[in-house]
Amino acid sequence: MITICPDCKRPLIEFDAGSENYHCSNPNCSFQYLELMTGKQHRKAVQTEEIENNPPVSNLDKKPKRILVGLAIESTLLNMGHSIFDKVTAKLKYDYDATVFDCLDNPQYLKKILETNFDSDVRSVLIKSVKTLLGEFAYYDSISEFLDKINGRN
Ligand SMILES: [Zn+2]
Repeated sequence: MITICPDCKRPLIEFDAGSENYHCSNPNCSFQYLELMTGKQHRKAVQTEEIENNPPVSNLDKKPKRILVGLAIESTLLNMGHSIFDKVTAKLKYDYDATVFDCLDNPQYLKKILETNFDSDVRSVLIKSVKTLLGEFAYYDSISEFLDKINGRN
């Protein structure tokens, strides 16, 4: 009997006489072979473009800012005194299991710590210094939002 390739319509050729496996002789066809007994059709794995699972651009964009903001906070706290630095970083760790590098995403951590442990001057000095250190970066949306949130009353 002659079986036709379902893809390219050429006649299929039996692998070995009696094997009941019919394969397509067309090298450009993705059809590999047909198991006549079961009707199972085998095709070459279709080459698909690897879809890279890139994170969204906004996330890529945020990582260096987390670091920038973290370093600016760290540097500011150190300038304000080792006791302030130690207290804030210890509180971040203890209360939130966080570091200064988590502050861009979680401004409330830093805000709460500053509010409960220091007077408002410390907060305004910190904001001013972070702003200065970041320079033009302070005007990136995510960073200026962070500064606003730290500064906010609620
Ligand atoms: Zn074929």
